[in-house]
Amino acid sequence: MNDSYIGRFAPTPSGYLHFGSLVAALASYLDARAAGGRWLLRMEDLDPPREVPGAQDAILRTLETYGFAWDGELVYQRDRHAEYAAVIERLLAQGLAYACTCSRKQLAGHGGIYPGTCRDAGHAEHGAAIRLRVPQLEYRFVDRVQGEFGQQLGREVGDFVIRRRDGLFAYQLAVVLDDAWQGVTDVVRGADLLDSTPRQLYLQELLGLPQPRYLHVPLIIQPDGHKLGKSYRSPPLPAEQAGPLLLRALRALGQQAPTELQGAAPAELLAWGIAHWDASRIPRSRTLAEAQLR
Ligand code: GLU
Ligand code: ZN
Repeated sequence: MNDSYIGRFAPTPSGYLHFGSLVAALASYLDARAAGGRWLLRMEDLDPPREVPGAQDAILRTLETYGFAWDGELVYQRDRHAEYAAVIERLLAQGLAYACTCSRKQLAGHGGIYPGTCRDAGHAEHGAAIRLRVPQLEYRFVDRVQGEFGQQLGREVGDFVIRRRDGLFAYQLAVVLDDAWQGVTDVVRGADLLDSTPRQLYLQELLGLPQPRYLHVPLIIQPDGHKLGKSYRSPPLPAEQAGPLLLRALRALGQQAPTELQGAAPAELLAWGIAHWDASRIPRSRTLAEAQLR
């Protein structure tokens, strides 16, 4: 095994895996295995109220049926709360984060960018959201597929929430802490998260954590124009369609799977994918229409 490559897949159980998540899982799996690296799995169960009952089990069962084997223990974010809380306390103590008591109504009308109302208000943290102060600086990186991408955090994002008012921890904070804790060197995921990446780079810098390489695969768009993103609800991927859907996912990633693979079992498709993986063939686009993949 190659310890200089550690990849991961990090599903959110607010729904079942859909074709878009299969494409992201496949890309991260093949990129890791082709490099002789490790491939970890992390359940991003940060938001129990939004969880679909049974989704965690269904996701694991789908991954297994589709032939994905992960290394080591499955990590659950519900077991990581003590670390998230400790980091938030440290950021608060350093004045890098602050409590925000703004209501949804007060936040409306700023184009989604927090106007900084509570920055120097000194609110108590209990029952308040915690926001991270962002600098008026651009955070930029070179994505392996999407190319250069940057955001001026102050102007384009604003101070963002790292713990919600209801006490739940925010994805942006948890993902950065967990990727570092698990030693992840390569983040391969859907392009819906491209514009989360500059926030994550800032957090890594602030916390002295290493910056992984990034590869964002195109997001799959439904015939009705619907994006297959985190919030998209669809039925579980059918077990009996594992072969055909893996083949379609390979092709969505630009991999030139031969017609002889039609009817092949998942293990054979994944083995072909590892042997022939060429990330430079992934379409350099943020979205792909599912209709063109059939
Ligand atoms: N949990 C996120 C999702 O399902 C992925 C997070 C990540 O890969 O950074 O969309
Ligand atoms: Zn506020």
